[in-house]
Amino acid sequence: MLEVIVVGSGLAGFGVALALWERGAAVTLVDAGRPGGGATGASAGMLAAQYESTADSPKFRLCLESRRRYPVFAARVAELCRQDLGIRWDGMLVANLCEREHVDADEVACWQREAALRAEVVGPEEAARIQPGVSGDVVSYLWLPDEGQLDSQALGAALGAAIASTDIRLIAGNGVREVKVSGGAVAGVLTVDGRSLDGERVVLAAGAWSGSIAGASGRRLPVRPVRGQIVRLAVSEFALGPIIASHAGRYVVPRGRGTVIAGSTMEEVGFDRSITEEGCRVIQDAAAELIPALAGRKPLEQWAGLRPISADSSPIIGPDPEIEGLFYATGYGRDGILLSPLVGDLVAELIVTGETELDWHPFRIGRFTELDSE
Ligand SMILES: Cc1cc2nc3c(=O)[nH]c(=O)nc-3n(C[C@H](O)[C@H](O)[C@H](O)COP(=O)(O)OP(=O)(O)OC[C@H]3O[C@@H](n4cnc5c(N)ncnc54)[C@H](O)[C@@H]3O)c2cc1C
Repeated sequence: MLEVIVVGSGLAGFGVALALWERGAAVTLVDAGRPGGGATGASAGMLAAQYESTADSPKFRLCLESRRRYPVFAARVAELCRQDLGIRWDGMLVANLCEREHVDADEVACWQREAALRAEVVGPEEAARIQPGVSGDVVSYLWLPDEGQLDSQALGAALGAAIASTDIRLIAGNGVREVKVSGGAVAGVLTVDGRSLDGERVVLAAGAWSGSIAGASGRRLPVRPVRGQIVRLAVSEFALGPIIASHAGRYVVPRGRGTVIAGSTMEEVGFDRSITEEGCRVIQDAAAELIPALAGRKPLEQWAGLRPISADSSPIIGPDPEIEGLFYATGYGRDGILLSPLVGDLVAELIVTGETELDWHPFRIGRFTELDSE
């Protein structure tokens, strides 16, 4: 049986571990904290492949394919953890706050329709019919009816239970310090408390911390943390269905029980996961711009997470070109909840069979270095 160590049990590591286990590998997941305790459980849970995609690209195609596979993945995880993950496909309204955004959104809707996707620009009255309570003080909205969402706080909390109902071995609360390399191939990992674990393959999926693990090709992965804050607000006036978002990356997402979550910030503050009054204010102002009834609401809760952002903001996927048996599944940035099922399958296929029909080349680690011989 192929023995694989997956470093990190956020949704990225979990996605790879699950796909490997389903393909018959013996999998050990090692996490410095607990499953889902990183960006995964802190995220907004949007399954938004079309939002923020201004042109067709390999990353856009990756996001679309992962969205297509999501219902099967989510049902599988819900069955394993025996919890409802709140997945729903109610779409997304993106506010065009000025004429420029309206024109750009029109172009985006055009090329996305040419790519056989549903996307249209609607007026404020039509938007209010889709979702009562949205701001009428906009030029128009981009309506993306096929975008989805899940309850990422429920997902983060449930990952441990999902892992426990498989044969995947979990080592939690003990981070990996170093990847062991012997004769040009991986041999396993060394943990922070000095344990040596053997494995024929190692997958680096430690989110924003992926660049802190030594031994991987003797170089640091170009992945950095970018903090995002979120606040939870009560809303009793109406039930929110679709996600309401702005082109500046702010959004309001329904969270059930009469609440919504609003986000987010993009802050370069290293590994600092603190919440701030300024972050709360910025998010609340943006939420009120999208849904005026949210103005002045006292937050019920506020939290922060660290997105793993690569040097070119695209994921890092696939094998290391120098060290045999070392693989990457990281740098998913703002789309890690969306991308994890597809990349999990992709990396598992590469590990088990050495090939995949999915095009991972645009995301190979070699693009950052002179090691890339292509
Ligand atoms: C505020 C916010 C909102 C977001 N909203 C969305 C969204 O709506 N849709 C979307 O698709 N994405 C969203 N994202 C992005 C998404 O959350 C991330 O891309 C995704 O969770 C990354 O998953 P991951 O498993 O790589 O990282 P994480 O979930 O951070 O998991 C990394 C794991 O590695 C562990 N670890 C760290 N160091 C070590 C070590 N040395 N050894 C072993 N383990 C280690 C950590 O403990 C952690 O459990 C959002 C992120 C944030 C912060």
